Amino acid sequence: MSQTLDDVRKIEVVLKVAERCNINCSYCYMFNKGNEEFSDLPAYIRQSTVEEIAHFLANGARELNCKDVSIGLHGGEPLMIKKERYVEICETFIRIISPVAKIDFTMQTNAVLVDDEWMEIFKKYKIQIGVSIDGPREYNDRARLDHRGRSTYDGTLRGIRMLQDEGTHLKAGVGGLAVIDPHVDAKKIYRHMVDVLGIRKFDFLLPIETHDTFDESTLPLYAKYLCDAFDEWVADDDTSIRIRMFTNMLSYFTRGKEFAARENHYIFNRWILMTIDSNGGIGPDDALKPLNGGLFAQNVRDVSLKEFVMSPLMQDLRAAEMALPEACSDCAWQTYCKGGGHYGRFANRFSRRNGFDNPTIFCGALKQLYAHAAKRLIESGVAYERVVASLEYSGARQQFAPAAIRTANASFGGRKTIPIHMA
Ligand code: SF4
Repeated sequence: MSQTLDDVRKIEVVLKVAERCNINCSYCYMFNKGNEEFSDLPAYIRQSTVEEIAHFLANGARELNCKDVSIGLHGGEPLMIKKERYVEICETFIRIISPVAKIDFTMQTNAVLVDDEWMEIFKKYKIQIGVSIDGPREYNDRARLDHRGRSTYDGTLRGIRMLQDEGTHLKAGVGGLAVIDPHVDAKKIYRHMVDVLGIRKFDFLLPIETHDTFDESTLPLYAKYLCDAFDEWVADDDTSIRIRMFTNMLSYFTRGKEFAARENHYIFNRWILMTIDSNGGIGPDDALKPLNGGLFAQNVRDVSLKEFVMSPLMQDLRAAEMALPEACSDCAWQTYCKGGGHYGRFANRFSRRNGFDNPTIFCGALKQLYAHAAKRLIESGVAYERVVASLEYSGARQQFAPAAIRTANASFGGRKTIPIHMA
């Protein structure tokens, strides 16, 4: 199966403007998971490289007739770059890409370095911002410390407050991202995000582990974490609180298999996602870097965007990502889950023995979340048949018929509505 590029709707780039970070999170896949590639790269992207990347993207968008380019300013910590350089980067992309396609900017940051001058820049370029924070101070400090082992919580909180100041362009609000630590209370993290930080659009991120590194004894804790977070969200009964992993899942569970087919087609054929290093090196999701050196051997200087996407390495990775691992072939959740690729990281499928032909390491936890969410959906009044039809596939459909779900369906009445986002 190879990707067709006749109708590409969006080109999305994770751009490493800084290959260094002002803090030192213990779980960081870039600096603390054994991959040292960053140390050979320019610490900060050079202007000549930005120009090359901008032409690479503009020419690629033109060739593929794509009208939508999104640049995610990423690191390391993107705010470690000098402000004038940051402005120059945005101006360069606008100058070179905007005659061809609409361009927007996003950024993922720890927010510690946000100040008034940065705020002016964010407003000027309408940069949509996600902040990484793992919940209340005592949880955040378990992994997100600075290079001298000090808490980063206050710095991040101060940054969030500045970003939330009135007059900001962030109409949908500041986004949040918490890496899941199975040893802490998910409900407490949820409440902290919503009640203390005032963040209404966030996600829980599974850590970058593989079958070779994962501690399986923690799986029940992950299951509990995911179900607890889901329950807390449902209890709020507030559609303005968006948790991507949950809203996305419920859309799949209720909108029918045609929706799933459309989504899969979009992801595979109409959406290009790539990471670009500070030296112009191009590759897939950079979370794969700890698995294998050499994924970023191509460079914007040497190939066109189309050649890069159609290169054997990228096509093999895409095909593997879309293919269902053998062990998932009889699973009732496969339409949505796709081996764990839908929620979670492709890296979570990897083992040195089988490559990507494994279910995600989080399979057992995700199955519990899916069953739990389906049960709650049915309890809230969504017809059992609708959920089954949405998940329908050609395998053992009867697996999706646990007695608890039938019972819940039969006993539905007047409970909280699950906040399904149907946009
Ligand atoms: S729940 Fe597990 S077995 Fe089912 S598709 Fe996902 S990873 Fe595969």
